[in-house]
Amino acid sequence: MWIRRARPRAGSTSRLFVTYAVASLVPVVALGALVLQDYRRDAAEQGRMQGLSQADVIAQMVVAPALDSSGSQNLGVDLSRRGLSAEQYDMLRESTGLAVYRGSVQHLRLRGFTGRVIFSDDGTTSVGVPVSDPDFRAAAAGESRATVITGQTQTIRVLKPLLAGATGQSVGVLEVYLPYQAIADRRDQLVMRTVKRIGGGLVALYLVLALLAWWTTRSLRRYAADQRHHALHDALTGLPNRVAYRAWAEQRLEQARRDGEHGAVVLVDLNRFKEVNDTLGHHAGDDLLCQVSERFRAGLGPRDILARLGGDEFALLLPGRSGPEAVALLEDIRERLGAEMVLDGVPLSIEASFGIALYPEHGSGVHDLKQHADMAMYQAKRGTADIVVYSGDNAAHPHQWLKVQAELRHALERDELVLHYQPKVSLPDGEVEGLEALVRWQHPERGMVPPGDFLPAAEHSGLIVPLTEWVLRRALTDQLGWTAAGQSWAVSVNVSARNLEVAGFPALVARLLAETGTPAHRLVLEVTETALAGDVATVERVIAEVAALGVGLSIDDFGAGFTSLSQLRGKPVAEIKIDRQFVKDVAHDPQSRAIVRSVIELAHGLGSRATAEGIETAEIYRWLIEAGCDEAQGYLIGRPVPWPQIDARRFAVPEEEIVTASQNVTATEGMSR
Ligand code: C2E
Ligand code: MG
Ligand code: MG
Repeated sequence: MWIRRARPRAGSTSRLFVTYAVASLVPVVALGALVLQDYRRDAAEQGRMQGLSQADVIAQMVVAPALDSSGSQNLGVDLSRRGLSAEQYDMLRESTGLAVYRGSVQHLRLRGFTGRVIFSDDGTTSVGVPVSDPDFRAAAAGESRATVITGQTQTIRVLKPLLAGATGQSVGVLEVYLPYQAIADRRDQLVMRTVKRIGGGLVALYLVLALLAWWTTRSLRRYAADQRHHALHDALTGLPNRVAYRAWAEQRLEQARRDGEHGAVVLVDLNRFKEVNDTLGHHAGDDLLCQVSERFRAGLGPRDILARLGGDEFALLLPGRSGPEAVALLEDIRERLGAEMVLDGVPLSIEASFGIALYPEHGSGVHDLKQHADMAMYQAKRGTADIVVYSGDNAAHPHQWLKVQAELRHALERDELVLHYQPKVSLPDGEVEGLEALVRWQHPERGMVPPGDFLPAAEHSGLIVPLTEWVLRRALTDQLGWTAAGQSWAVSVNVSARNLEVAGFPALVARLLAETGTPAHRLVLEVTETALAGDVATVERVIAEVAALGVGLSIDDFGAGFTSLSQLRGKPVAEIKIDRQFVKDVAHDPQSRAIVRSVIELAHGLGSRATAEGIETAEIYRWLIEAGCDEAQGYLIGRPVPWPQIDARRFAVPEEEIVTASQNVTATEGMSR
């Protein structure tokens, strides 16, 4: 399951689009209706105005000449009272008849203010607008009114004041009915044409709006999908990020719990990634991460989940895979990662440390499984195997490390650390040659805490750097103390792999030697053999620089880490300390004896001293003398204690014990032959 970019879902997009489309249709239709209504009203108004001006023309051309024909006696007199002269009547009949005949007028009436019909084109005197009609009253008061009357045909009725020509005084009301059908038809035609134009415009507008809505919806959806994708994916490799991994893993593990399915959670950390970043630059580091992601993908199945948690840390979820299957898959991936890749013209191969936690054996929740995988990965980083399955017996639990780290920081500030020293004697004479500084934490509540309980946490953080500096400074200061007391013992200080990866380490050692005025040959730095396998280039440089100062280099716990012997070649090794696990068994195990003998020989071959650690019995002590071991260290000789308590006397094993031991060992050796 990889970078599937979340696509906008078609269903929800079209739903949103339909909503937009319908929503924008409403204002468009409303706008259309409003425009149409306004237009119709304007057209009706125009019709009325036209009717009014037509009525004006009729009043002036048809009525006025007839009324004015009888001279000035008519002026200012209400028509209802005096009526028309016969001459006026005839003239009106004639001109009205002509107008009616031509079709420019339908009916025409002259009325007095009382409403009496003085003249009508058809001779009727009883019909007409009632006097109470507001239009009639307005006309009587001097205001013209036009009204469209809708019947079989449309007509405009105009009521307007009848004015006497000379004085312009109102003498009655002219009630005239004009044909409106033609005007209405023309108006309707105009309206239709306008409706078509506006309608077409509105449809086009609507289409543009709908298109915009469609485009905006799609863009919004895309944007939201992009945002979602970015929130859940790593921008560089496109892989799911920590958040997405957690969500998916929770989902898968929940399902696995329901279905009783097994699987594996894997954490992967690239080795020497920092080196690539520091030496070749960040773009090469980015390139490397992308290539690594591709190689991972190529090795995974369709159900496997790969995520980049950050930096050079990756996580896998392998549903349905058993422990051996997960290991086999990771071996394949390790091989793919190891294939040469060229970055910035530099060919290199990538190694990684893999930590595996299996479900349901090692937990069922993401948190527990990741923590256990992290512990296994930590072990892989520090140990010899680079694929480690969680076993539950790790020294310290990483989730406690945070607490330990916080406390340890304070411990350093409050000077709660102490150094105990264990003597190292030369063989066979048993003279103290040097002391090994072993750190302890005088914890205010937990008492004396051994290094195994807090060093992994310190090594996992940067704290090991100030811690080692503190140990070195204290050891060299203590050495000044025993030198002043007449002892010329060298002091051995343990340093971690992390110290050797810090470029400034040799400078620190040189500074502390100078500060305390210690000759370099009286300081020995013990490095575990696995530290040599770390960041090879840096480690080699740091070791060479430290050796150049004149400081002795000791390979600690030799044999425990299966160092490739080639890693020893060319290194200025002063001492090889044979791991306790072989030493403790030399009394009864022929293989351990063979190993210890070989290491002694190897050390001598390399020009180094061979030192055996963990000597607890006189039997072993004696055997080591016979095997040619150079130095010895162990509880038999002395336990780690504050330096003033070191017994400076020559270490001597009671004579009878040596004899018995010698006989016992010789007997077992004889049996094994
Ligand atoms: P190491 O350097 O191999 O130190 C020897 C360890 O074996 C010490 O354990 C010591 O107490 C123990 N030991 C000595 N003789 C015997 C014996 O006869 N029998 C048995 N069973 N054990 C014996 P300790 O002090 O607990 O230290 C454990 C490890 O912690 C050391 O192993 C060393 O790797 C690390 N360490 C201790 N101090 C420091 C330090 O200052 N810096 C660093 N980086 N590591 C340290
Ligand atoms: Mg040591
Ligand atoms: Mg050791």
